[in-house]
Formats: sequence, structure tokens, C-alpha cells
Amino acid sequence: MRKILLLLFMLLIISPARSQKIAKTEITTWQYGKNAAVSLTFDDGSINQFTVALPILNSLSLPATFFIITGQIPGSRYQGRFIGRPVEQIIAETAETPTNSENLFERASAIGFLGYEGTLQYHTLAGGLYDEEKESKSDEVYAILDDAYNQVRHGAFKRKTDGDNRSGVTWDQIRAYASQGHEFASHTVTHPRLAVLDEPNMLYELEKSKAEILEQLGPKHTFSAEGPYGTENERAMKYMYPIYPALRNRMPEPFLEELNRWHKMNPGASDKPYVQWQRGATTSTPLPLMKSWVDTVASNNNNWLVLVFHGVDGIGYEALPHELLDEYFQYIKQNEDDIWVATFGDATKYMRERMGSTVKVTENKNGITVMLNHNLDQRMYNLPLTLKSYVSPDWKNANIKQGTNSVHAVVKKDNLGSFVQYQAIPNLAPIEISNNQ
Ligand SMILES: [Zn+2]
Repeated sequence: MRKILLLLFMLLIISPARSQKIAKTEITTWQYGKNAAVSLTFDDGSINQFTVALPILNSLSLPATFFIITGQIPGSRYQGRFIGRPVEQIIAETAETPTNSENLFERASAIGFLGYEGTLQYHTLAGGLYDEEKESKSDEVYAILDDAYNQVRHGAFKRKTDGDNRSGVTWDQIRAYASQGHEFASHTVTHPRLAVLDEPNMLYELEKSKAEILEQLGPKHTFSAEGPYGTENERAMKYMYPIYPALRNRMPEPFLEELNRWHKMNPGASDKPYVQWQRGATTSTPLPLMKSWVDTVASNNNNWLVLVFHGVDGIGYEALPHELLDEYFQYIKQNEDDIWVATFGDATKYMRERMGSTVKVTENKNGITVMLNHNLDQRMYNLPLTLKSYVSPDWKNANIKQGTNSVHAVVKKDNLGSFVQYQAIPNLAPIEISNNQ
């Protein structure tokens, strides 16, 4: 009896199916089996991004992500305002009580929305110091606000006059750009320093920007966001995470190494499954350096280059000339064999779907059956993934069928054997791969 069992066991071990790489199926690191992903992101929604840069992107069929300040778009329902007590009360209190840790956030939230011209810059100044100096300069932050409120009490600022004089890109135009494949994402209602906002104003900036985009563009464009100034303030991040699934500021996944715009580490040096490498192009960034970022990620295999642009042709922060953008975008296009150019949202979805998916393969007389499933929210995570399945070495062509969709694929070879590469949708029907001579 023991001998028979042993014989059976040996037969199993040496059966032909096991001696080949058949049935091994993997989800490729990036879409279409590319070496790297590149996302082109634009901040602040200044007009030349749409009238100058976007047509260049369209001529090259490159999608981009635009982080827009929703309160600045004409016709928006939600505009900059202070949520809280009557501001007269707050102003009156500043005569008696200097700014301290108890009242800082309320005062910093209100200062830009007291109804005067010129007070918003004190929010930006105090908030920037508080956020970037990791709260260590509290006394200077308090002093900036005390100075501002003191001036308000002494009538140093002109009353704001009514009237909506906002101009720039319109929601109708944005809808048209979205239909061309670009992603629109939140950059809050007014571009505040989130680190110094109190809870009601923090939530207003984040939630109402999302509500506005949902109403104007639909749920596809409420996935990604960027808290202004690339903040990584812990308190602000805790408010952002539950509201926006994908944040350029920072994301919580353990599988992702995030190297922000100021980080010096080489993106090839991480041992995590994915590396997000953010690079900001400014007026002092030479074009060869910008090109080298693309070369670097194309030569690694798990890098996601996230490029951050602001102004274009004289309008916006660190505005770059269109000639330079044109040459750079063409360079990116020329490297498309190695890189997947994707919106910020799609690159995030791909990584999460891949890391959250299971692949089960069974062999049958015609070939193999692949099951691809994940437990993520399917209303959001519905991007097709690229699969690579190893097949019998004598196959030349394969037929790949998932549900009602059927395609032919040429069998290719690498050092592990013969394989087919194809697109599959998670949680749909099983994928049937058969020989097709
Ligand atoms: Zn910004």
C-alpha cells in the first residue's frame, strides 16, 4: 500500500503539466506590460493650462489630471466663505485675547473672509509658516494673525464690493475636456492652508469642492485630490483620506514608496512593490533634467513618475513656456513603448486593483481558464488589468475570451516560456484561453 502511494506521489510530481510553465499567470506591474507609469498633473486651473497646454496634449493623445480650485470657476455653487460664529464677534475678541493655541484655527479660518480686501494673504502667510515649520513657530504665527486683526479693528482694509468678477475656464469647457479623456480633480474650494483651518472650514473646503465636482462632472472626477501646497500635515491628512480615495499629497498604502517633490532618494532604490516619484517642473528646471526623469523611470520596473506643473506662458505660478512643454510632451510620447501615460486616478486604480486581486488558473483540454477577482468597491475600481499567461510552447496564436468579448493574441516568448498578454476586467466572467492555430 505504501509503495502504491509513493508511486502515485511520484507520478504527480513528474506529470508533464508540472514540468512546464503553463498555467502561471501574472498581472503585469503596469498597464499593457509597460515598465513605468507617468502622470501629467496640473495645479490651480490657470487658463493657459487649457488654452495652451491641453491642445498640445490632445494632439499627442496624452491624458492629464487637472487639480482645480472649484470656488474660482464661474457659476460654482460653493464659494469661499467662513463657516462659524459671526465674524464681528471674533474681531471684537481679538482686542481682548491674543491669538493662542485655543483660538488659532478659528481666527486663521476667518481672516480671509471678513468682508475686506487684502486680509486673505495673512491666512496664507500664517498658515504657510505653521504648516512648513511643523508648528514650531507658533508664536510667529500668532503674531501675524494679531497684526492682521489689529489692522482690521483699526479700519486699515477696504470693504469688499459685491460682484462676481471671476473669469477663466468654465464648467462647460471642463466638461468638454473631461470627455476628451482628461481627469479633473479637487484642489479645494479656495486653495487654503488646510493645516490652520478648524474642522467646519476644513470640511467645507474638502466636501463642498467634491460636491461641486460631483454635480458638474459626475462621480468619475471625485476620485483624486490635492490639498494645496502639497501639504502633508497629519491633521489635514486625516480629514482628506475619507473624502478623496486618491491624494497626491500622500496615500496610505504599505506597498507604495512615496517620494515627494522635495525628496532626494533615487526611485530605483526602494524595495517596495511601487514607487511614486513626484517631480515639479519650475522655470529653473532644465529640459534635459526633465527628460532624464522619464529615462529613469523607463529603466526601472515599478516607478510611477508624477509630474507637477503649474503656470503656462506667463499665467500661474512658475509658468513654463509652451515651446518647452511641447518638446517635453513629445519626448514622453516618443517613449510610450516603455511608459504608460495615465491620469493620476487611473494609475492609482491600477496599483490598488493589482495589489488587491487574486488570480486563479485551471487547466483544461483546450487551454487554461483564468479567474481574476478583487474585493475593492467595483463602482470605483473597474479599470481593466493587463494579464500575462504562460501557455504551451507549441502554441503560435491564442484565442482569449472573457464574457462576450473575444480577441486573438500572438504567442510571444520570454525567458520563462511562451505567453500571451491581454486585458481583463476583474470580477467579470472567467477568461478562457485556447489554442488558435
Ligand atoms: Zn495649488
